[in-house]
Amino acid sequence: MKQFACGDVVPDCDVAFAGATDDDILAAVAVHATRDHGLVTVPSELVDQVRASIREVA
Ligand SMILES: [Zn+2]
Repeated sequence: MKQFACGDVVPDCDVAFAGATDDDILAAVAVHATRDHGLVTVPSELVDQVRASIREVA
């Protein structure tokens, strides 16, 4: 299982995600970013930041 805390990238956000793969998390983050952070698209820089912040958990 992998986890990502949006707060690692967006300091004021306390939403967290979990998924089996990076891509599962990125898909959920994309929805969250467009709905809750007002992004029209997710820039590749943000994708890189999210990937770098995803943690492997047991
Ligand atoms: Zn967020």
